[in-house]
Amino acid sequence: MKKLTLLLLTAAIVAVFTLPIAACKKDNSALCNYEIIAEYDGQKTVSAVMNFTYYNDCENEISDLKFNLYANAYRQNARQKPISQTYLDKAFYNGESFGKIEILSVDNCSSWQVCGSDENVLLVSLLTPIYPENTVKISVKYTLELAQVNHRTGVTERAVNLGNFYPVLCHYEKSGFYECEYYSCGDPFVSDCANYTVQLTVPKSYVIASSGNLVKSNESGEKLVCEYELKRARDFAAVLSQNFKTESATLGDCTVTYYYYDDANPQMKLNAAVQSLQYFSDVFGKYVYPTLSVVQTGFCYAGMEYPALCMISDKLKNDDAIYTIVHENAHQWWYAMVGNDQINSAWQDEGLAEYSTLLFFENAPEYGFTKTAILGNAIKNYRAYFTVYKQIFGDANTQMTRSLTDFTSEYEYVNICYNKGLIAFDTIKNSLGEEKFFKALKHYYSNGLYKTAKPEDLIACFCGDDSDLEGLIRAFLDGKIII
Ligand SMILES: [Zn+2]
Repeated sequence: MKKLTLLLLTAAIVAVFTLPIAACKKDNSALCNYEIIAEYDGQKTVSAVMNFTYYNDCENEISDLKFNLYANAYRQNARQKPISQTYLDKAFYNGESFGKIEILSVDNCSSWQVCGSDENVLLVSLLTPIYPENTVKISVKYTLELAQVNHRTGVTERAVNLGNFYPVLCHYEKSGFYECEYYSCGDPFVSDCANYTVQLTVPKSYVIASSGNLVKSNESGEKLVCEYELKRARDFAAVLSQNFKTESATLGDCTVTYYYYDDANPQMKLNAAVQSLQYFSDVFGKYVYPTLSVVQTGFCYAGMEYPALCMISDKLKNDDAIYTIVHENAHQWWYAMVGNDQINSAWQDEGLAEYSTLLFFENAPEYGFTKTAILGNAIKNYRAYFTVYKQIFGDANTQMTRSLTDFTSEYEYVNICYNKGLIAFDTIKNSLGEEKFFKALKHYYSNGLYKTAKPEDLIACFCGDDSDLEGLIRAFLDGKIII
């Protein structure tokens, strides 16, 4: 994600992975599969059926499945609010509004219930245990009620955001399925790669931007029916609008499309999207998806990343929109293709995305963002945060690896994960030199592709047996560096 508070800029030892990575499966046949058939009524309701095939890649049998119900965070009595006080006015453009996901039925199971600490989990007890490398198919019927909100899931002023619009299988770790609560700070998501087939039906006045590759489309009466495919992705999102215009370009075998409704210079945004995709492919590794949708929409922050799709706030001015597009595109590498635990080590994708943005602009001076300005701004903001926290609270916790719940404010989160993250990666690059730095990130990409990388995996890529550099990085992460 990109926070608005960051957009203050004016145009102005290579190692081998030795530590385990929690893995998605190795090929398409051995992945979970989502087949989602959803219809939006043009108002505030999505009616859907999700046929989900679970593939057990664990070492033990599985008797229950758990799914995150992120959309329930928008309900009236949610314990964890999806949006902090700071952003309420930007988010709720029409006053307070609520939404929810209601599970109507689950087939092919012995029982099911909505549970979790905040009605945020669908627990499905299977008819029989599923042994390793076996599959089971269940069918979930549900309705999604959309709040009027400029946020990930909701009806915005000129578009409809369908992020997290279905039950998402919880990430599995040795301790079991990992239930995500919906924190207002950061991106509270951890998910594994799966295959998707998504059929979206909308009133035919709508244009659909989605994560997937369009494989079928037809009009039926007053409705438009589109079917999309997306392979080996850790999420699927769409944005619907009656106002979208589009500009497209191809880059190799990828089609990049900019969806917009209020932009005097759409070609410039498309160019920034294509150029950054090209640059990141060159320096990190191939972009694996057949499409990329860059989508202008109502959003209370600057932008939000999903696999093969990013949401860009329609409130951003030209330069801020370009900066945000590049930041969200960097997330295709750091979050979408190489995943990480965004709840407990948000710096890993946000810090890298922010530093990748700096690297792109350093190599594309025509946009007017200089390394000096971006880095200087990060240092200035970080020091301001540190001073403010020292004065107000008597101390500033500058630890980077910690849960989203351990940040006392979004201001602290942004300064630790984005600004300090950017400063840390620049320090690492200075220490390693350019060649080794990029070689390490290429290694991180190729080893982490489709997987969920841990902080140790990233550290090992940079450090190998260089204990001095590892000590430096750990000092950053533990909050023992003075900047
Ligand atoms: Zn981000």
